[in-house]
Amino acid sequence: MSIYSIKCQDGTDKQCYGNLEIDITIPNLANEQILDIVENGGCEFTQEEAKNCMLTLSENEKKSLKENDNFYREINVKGDTICGACGSDYTRNDNGDIIDY
Ligand SMILES: [Zn+2]
Repeated sequence: MSIYSIKCQDGTDKQCYGNLEIDITIPNLANEQILDIVENGGCEFTQEEAKNCMLTLSENEKKSLKENDNFYREINVKGDTICGACGSDYTRNDNGDIIDY
């Protein structure tokens, strides 16, 4: 389990928490990789990055490394990438009060 801090991917609510903590099961990810995972559901690894992140490679990934010097892996994020305030269905006024119970 590796907890990373990310910006709320919505950010539209006045009460937005700003940052969220998510769990990606891979350690030592670079910031760009975390963003890619959050936005696109996966990211690319070079051999060195895969080593840093202590990944166990599948045969396909090894093959891709040989051919392209990197491979793409789909990665699931545990936890919300949008904070509770932005993710709620409530409408708020300018004071942040919920106005449509
Ligand atoms: Zn938010």
